[in-house]
Amino acid sequence: MQIRNVVLLSHQGAGKTSLVESMLFASGAIQRLGSAADGTTTSDYDPVEIERQMGINLSLLPAQWQGMKLNIIDTPGYADFVGEARSGLRVTEGAIIAVCAASGVEVGTEQMWSEAERGNLPRFIFVNKMDRDNADFLSTLKGIQSMLSPKCLPVQLPIGSQKDFQGIIDLVTMKAYIGTDSQEAEVPPTMQEQAEASREKLVEAAVEADDELINKYLEGESINNEEVFSAIRKSTIAGKLVPVFAGSALKGIGTRQILDGVCSYLPAPEEQGAVLAKNASTGEQEEISHDSESALAGLVFKTTADPYVGKLSYFRIYSGVISGNSQVWNANKNSMERIGQLFTMLGKNQQTVPQVAAGDIGAVAKLSVTNTGDTLCAREHPVILPGIEFPKANFSMAIQPQAKSDLDKMSTVLPRICEEDPSLQTRREADTNEFIISGVGDNHLEITREKIRRKFGVEVRLDLPKIPYKETITASTKAEHKHKKQTGGHGQYGHVLLELEPLDRGGGFEFVEKIFGGAIPQNYIPSVEKGVNEARQEGVLAGYPVVDVNVTLYDGSFHAVDSSDIAFKIAAAQALKKGLSQGQPVLVEPIMKLTITVPDSYTGDITSDLNTKRGRVLGMNPGDGVNVIEAQAPYAELLRYALNLRSLTQGRGSFAMEFDHYEEVPAHLSQKVIADKQKADKGD
Ligand code: GDP
Repeated sequence: MQIRNVVLLSHQGAGKTSLVESMLFASGAIQRLGSAADGTTTSDYDPVEIERQMGINLSLLPAQWQGMKLNIIDTPGYADFVGEARSGLRVTEGAIIAVCAASGVEVGTEQMWSEAERGNLPRFIFVNKMDRDNADFLSTLKGIQSMLSPKCLPVQLPIGSQKDFQGIIDLVTMKAYIGTDSQEAEVPPTMQEQAEASREKLVEAAVEADDELINKYLEGESINNEEVFSAIRKSTIAGKLVPVFAGSALKGIGTRQILDGVCSYLPAPEEQGAVLAKNASTGEQEEISHDSESALAGLVFKTTADPYVGKLSYFRIYSGVISGNSQVWNANKNSMERIGQLFTMLGKNQQTVPQVAAGDIGAVAKLSVTNTGDTLCAREHPVILPGIEFPKANFSMAIQPQAKSDLDKMSTVLPRICEEDPSLQTRREADTNEFIISGVGDNHLEITREKIRRKFGVEVRLDLPKIPYKETITASTKAEHKHKKQTGGHGQYGHVLLELEPLDRGGGFEFVEKIFGGAIPQNYIPSVEKGVNEARQEGVLAGYPVVDVNVTLYDGSFHAVDSSDIAFKIAAAQALKKGLSQGQPVLVEPIMKLTITVPDSYTGDITSDLNTKRGRVLGMNPGDGVNVIEAQAPYAELLRYALNLRSLTQGRGSFAMEFDHYEEVPAHLSQKVIADKQKADKGD
C-alpha cells in the first residue's frame, strides 16, 4: 500500500487537532467525531492535554484514503513544545500548516513555516475556521503571501464565509463541493470570474515546474485537468508551490479535499530524495535505499513513559522491515535491542501488527537501551540516521518534592520524564545543593510539574534557582588565633598565624605551608589545612563559599602535651574567619556569556534590555537579516531571560548561555543579597 507521512503544524489553536479528527472521521478511521472543546479528540488524549485544551505531545493518527495509508502526525502549536513539532517534521515527507481564517498568520505560523523551510518539506496551507466570525479568506491569503511566501497560491476558493460558509470551489476541476458530505455542484455564477482568474494564476505558477507543459502553455494550447494536477504535484514536491486550501475543520467542510490533497500533492516516502546516514563501521556517509528488501534502518523519534503501559517508542522505518519478536542493532548505543510486539497507533490505542516496512511508522513497547533519536538497524550493516535537533533547555527552575519523603521517588521519576521529553534536562547543582530542571519555557516546566503529579503521583514545587554566590577578600591580611583550654586534666592547645591574599578571579583557593623551625610539627599541618578548608565553606558575609584566596600558614606554636589535631583545626578555622573579616570581604556572582540570535530589527531592543540587566555587549555579527549578539551579564539577572527574550522578539530570538567567570557584586546590591540570605537561613 502506498504511504503518505504528513505532519500538521500551526500556531496554537488554529485547529490542527480538529482537522485531524475530521480527517479520521471522514476516512472512517473513527466512528464518532470527537471535539477539541469537549476534550474528546483522538489526538489529545492525555489528561493534561484535555484539562488545558491544548496538545503537548505529538500523536500518530493513521487513516486510509484513496487506497493509501496516511500517517498523520499532530503536533503541539505552543512554542515551548517545538521539540515535538521537530520530531514530527523529521520523519514525514510533507506538512500541512493550518492558519485560522480570522486571526491570519500568527507568530507560531511563521515559526512553523521556518521549521518546514529548514527541513525543505513540501507542504500546503489549510485556511481553517472559514465558518468563524471575522473569517476572511482573501485577507488571510494576503498575509500568507506577504509574511510567508508569494509561492503560496490557492487551489481552492471558499464559497461564502462566516455563518454563510458553504463549501469550496476546486480550481483544478472548476467544480464546487458543498457541505460536510462534499456534494458536487457547479461554480456559483457570481464567483465564476474570480475562480477563473485564480485558476489562471495557479496554472501559470504550476506549469513552470514542467518544461513540456510550460511550452504548451506559452503557445496557448489547452492544458487538461490531469496535467494541471500533475504540475501542481511536481511543483509542490519541488518546493516551488505551496497550495492553499480552505475549509472548516469543525464543520468538516473541505476535509475530503485535504485528504485528497495529501494523497495527490504530497510526496511518497520514496520521492523524498536521498536519505543519508553515517555508516557506523566506516564512518562514511551513505545513501539509504527506500525499499523494504534492503537492510533495516529506522529512527526512533518519540518515546513516551507511562507508569502502567511502560515505555513506548515510536519509530519511522526508512529502509528494510522491522518484525515483531526479533532482535535489531542500536547503532547509537552499539548494542542489540530486543523487539517485542509491534503496534500501529491511533492516538492512544494500539493495534498489534506483525511488521512495519520501509516508509511506514509504528511503535514498540519496552525497549531497553533505545532513546529518542537512536537508529535501529541490522547488525551486519550498522548505520546512524541524523537525529532530531531539540530546542535548547534555557529556562531553569529548582525542583523539589512537596513532601521530603518523596525525594527518592522524584529522583526516579525525573530520568523517565527526561527520556520522554528530550527538551528537558535535570542536574544537581553542587554549589547550591539544588535539583535543577531545565526546559524551553515556563509553560513547559509547569506542564512537566503537572505530568509528574498526574502520571507518577509526586507533588513537586518549582522555584527560581538560587544564585551560587561566593565570597572573597579584596585586601591582604594576617590573622592569628590561639585555641587554648586548660580544664583540669588534659588541655587543648593550637596556635596558628595565617596570611590571606586575594587571588585573581578564577584563582580558586590555595593553601600553602611555610613553617620554619618546627613552630608547628608536621603532623598537625593537615589538621590546619582541614580547619581552613572547612571554614571556607561558609564565608563571613552571608555564609557563601570562599574562593580566590591564597592562605599561607607561616607561624604558630604548640604544646607538647595539650596540642591535638582537633585543637589545630579549631585554631585554623578561627584564624581564617578573622582573616576573612579583616580582608574587606565582598560577594562575587557568576557572570554568563550570552550568544543571542535575533532578526536585525530587534537589535536595539535587545541591547537596551541588556543594559537594564547590568549586561555588556561584547560584539555583534550581523548577516543575512539576523544579528548574533555576544554579551555578558550576571546570572542573577538572567533567570527569566528565556521568557524575556521570547516576549521581546515574539519568539523570533534564540540564545545560548554558559558560565563565564565570577565578578564582584556591586555594593548597593550586595547588601540585599546578604540580607535575603540571612533571612532564608533563619527560615530553614
Ligand atoms: P490546535 O491547537 O491547532 O490543535 O487547535 P484545536 O483543534 O484544538 O482547536 C482550537 C479551537 O478552535 C477549539 O475550540 C476548536 O473547537 C476551534 N476550532 C477548530 N477548528 C474550527 C473551525 O473550523 N471553526 C471554528 N469555528 N472553530 C474551530
